[in-house]
Amino acid sequence: MYEIKITDEFCGAHKLRGYKGECEALHGHNWKTEISVYSKTTGKNGMVMDFKILKDRLKGVLSSIDHKYLNDLAYFKKKNPTSENIAEFIHKNLSRYIKQKIKVSVWETATSCASFEK
Ligand SMILES: [Zn+2]
Repeated sequence: MYEIKITDEFCGAHKLRGYKGECEALHGHNWKTEISVYSKTTGKNGMVMDFKILKDRLKGVLSSIDHKYLNDLAYFKKKNPTSENIAEFIHKNLSRYIKQKIKVSVWETATSCASFEK
C-alpha cells in the first residue's frame, strides 16, 4: 500500500457545546491538517496522485473554514466543532474529488490530534 501525505494549516475560533471546561469558552486555534491518500497501485507515472492537485483541493476546502467562527457555519450548527468533526468535515469535502481512501488528521495543539478515515 502506498501512502502520500500533505499538510496545511488554518486558523479559526470555536467554543464547544455540551462540554464543561475551558473549551466551552470562545477561543481559537491554528489547526494543522494532515491528509493521507492511500492506494494499492500508482498510475503509469509512478504517482498515487499529483501533490499539487491534492494541495489545491485541500486549500479549497480549508478556505471555507479559515479565519471563521466555526460555530456560525451551517455544518457546525448541527455538529459540535470539535477536531473530530472538523476532520470529518474536511474528509467529506475532499472525498468529492478523491476516490482513493483518505485519512484526515487535525492537530489542535502540537500534542493533540483527531483523525477521520474512510
Ligand atoms: Zn478548542
